[in-house]
Amino acid sequence: MPHSSGGGRSHGGSHRSSRSSKNSAANMRFGRSYYPGANRYVYYRAGMPQYYFSDRPYTLQNARSEKIKQFFTSIISIILAAIFGFSGFKSLPQKVKTDYNTDILINDAARLLSDTEEAEMNEAFLSFQNKTGVTPAFFTINIKELKTEGGDLQDYAYKLYVDTFNDEKHWLVVYCVDNVEKSWSWEGMIGDDCGSMITTDLENEFTRQLQSNLMDNSKSLSASVIDAFNQIGQKAGKISGNKIPTLIFLFAGGGLLLFTAVKKIIGTAKQKPEDDPRINATQCPVAETEPETIKCDYCGNEFVAKLHTTCPHCGAPLENNWE
Ligand SMILES: [Zn+2]
Repeated sequence: MPHSSGGGRSHGGSHRSSRSSKNSAANMRFGRSYYPGANRYVYYRAGMPQYYFSDRPYTLQNARSEKIKQFFTSIISIILAAIFGFSGFKSLPQKVKTDYNTDILINDAARLLSDTEEAEMNEAFLSFQNKTGVTPAFFTINIKELKTEGGDLQDYAYKLYVDTFNDEKHWLVVYCVDNVEKSWSWEGMIGDDCGSMITTDLENEFTRQLQSNLMDNSKSLSASVIDAFNQIGQKAGKISGNKIPTLIFLFAGGGLLLFTAVKKIIGTAKQKPEDDPRINATQCPVAETEPETIKCDYCGNEFVAKLHTTCPHCGAPLENNWE
């Protein structure tokens, strides 16, 4: 359904359009820091001792379920990244597809335009259509005609739009003149499929522009309409400044999500659950405080003192170094 893009009258200015239209237990068991009741387990990675805290040792089962969990987390991140990217592209301006009847309609029932003015308007509408894919239309009516149709210009314009066009890609302006009262009013009616090119901000700008042109006695009716469409046509399709932070958020956020997810998938794909060093961890006698470490005489890597009989890095036998 089309909606009002705004309108105005000779006395009282313009109006804006109003659009109607399990894990917690599992996580607890394997912490990175001490909690009451936990044991401290040491395993080795890159020559250095690493610890985890748990009431039981980490098993192959744990390594497997962790791998599955990481895989699903990565999948969810990828889906999120796709949603971010898609919303980003959706909010970029896109020319409206001209897959509809794009004939220019100028209907001057109130006889307010000369042939030359109509021809100029036709040309301006074509150029607006080329730029945006939206087809402008202009109708003039006499107040008598409006009164027989109920008297409300917005209703009239809505009905006229729906009766005249079977698409949502036209931008209709109806200008109503009252020759007795020497007054006029107008209404814009725009199809809902124009939104990718004509934002609400542009609709409002058009309303302001056309109204101020019409109030300017030095401008003719046709010049006012042509100028308003020309100005909006120049601005349509540009990314407005207030959209840039959202776009950066969506594209950068989506990219980062995708990057970390892919990195994680490659990382987990390379590592077999069997190779998880935590499976062969050794329980330390004291859980609360970090144990003393010493360096192996053979390989130079660090390990927890008074715990191992062979070096956990090179396998060299250790003298009973804690006695
Ligand atoms: Zn060693």
